[in-house]
Amino acid sequence: MANFDIKQILRKNIRDLQPYSSARDEFKGDASVFLDANENPFNSGINRYPDPLQQQLKTRIAQLKNVKPEEIFLGNGSDEAIDLLIRAFCEPGIDNIVSIKPTYGMYKVCADINNSEYREALLNSDFELDAEALLRLVDYNTKLLFLCSPNNPSGNSLDTLAIQQILDSFKGIVVLDEAYIDFSAQKSFLAQLETYPNLVILQTFSKAWGMAGIRLGMAFASAELIGVLNRIKYPYNINILTQQRALETLIDSVKKDEQVQLILSERKRMVNALSEIRSIEKIFPSDANFILAKVSDARKIYNYLLGKGIIVRDRSKVSLCENSLRITIGTGQENENLISELKKYFNQ
Ligand SMILES: *Cc1c(COP(=O)(O)O)cnc(C)c1O
Repeated sequence: MANFDIKQILRKNIRDLQPYSSARDEFKGDASVFLDANENPFNSGINRYPDPLQQQLKTRIAQLKNVKPEEIFLGNGSDEAIDLLIRAFCEPGIDNIVSIKPTYGMYKVCADINNSEYREALLNSDFELDAEALLRLVDYNTKLLFLCSPNNPSGNSLDTLAIQQILDSFKGIVVLDEAYIDFSAQKSFLAQLETYPNLVILQTFSKAWGMAGIRLGMAFASAELIGVLNRIKYPYNINILTQQRALETLIDSVKKDEQVQLILSERKRMVNALSEIRSIEKIFPSDANFILAKVSDARKIYNYLLGKGIIVRDRSKVSLCENSLRITIGTGQENENLISELKKYFNQ
């Protein structure tokens, strides 16, 4: 990846784009009278536009993740970064995207919206990645490659060497979605950011951090690549309330770590309890905060649980997930309810 040049693979219109310049872009610094942005002057805490580049929040995240603030992009959920990456690099109707199957559904939806061909390499029956097979789908017009580890909906981490092989051979952008990395026994690829200028890592506040409601996703990449996303994003994409709430929560990352530990011990307990139910055919190994379980009649069990007020995700229509339910790890009590209802269902 020595001679990787972003400008070579960017869409031409994005390379040439003159971005919108907001009032807060043109004036940076301290002042006491702001008459530049047509805001309402009466202070309510939210009468001003937010910082378009979320400097304070990024400074804190940078400390926590051991990266530079300019290597961070913040989006309205990870979905914003996924969408912007496709729009930055894939010429609609011409360029294509390669990914794995099954995986997170938003990659394909964003590709479809952008009219970018989406190619999928089927994982094996243990949801493992064959790097060679995936790389065979790559051609001259492949600009982006999406990997997800730990993967959704299977829960397993992809093989580190396979990911590395892909990073070494692919000449476009590799997006590695680490939404569930806090629950994983594998290390994040964040430390490899300097090694791979074509790597983008996605993480989120929606899972381990417990803040799905504020809609805040992170992308980590070289300062140059992050600069591209900043140029094409909506100027004020992260609102003040979200920035404030994230900053407050980030002060105390111990709470997040404690919750992750609780979820991990509950995951272990759930795996054990589900394994004891003989009618459950398979419980796939999980590195995430959910478990994929193969049963004989997923739809019937789904409906039975629904009737008891317990909602799980029926993933039966997804490739390699026939008759499989995806079960999020809840609180001890919630998990207990699920297990006891399943035992009742199977008369065990
Ligand atoms: C939940 C999830 C996300 C998070 O998306 P947000 O938009 O940040 O809430 C990202 N990727 C995967 C694979 C997920 O399962």
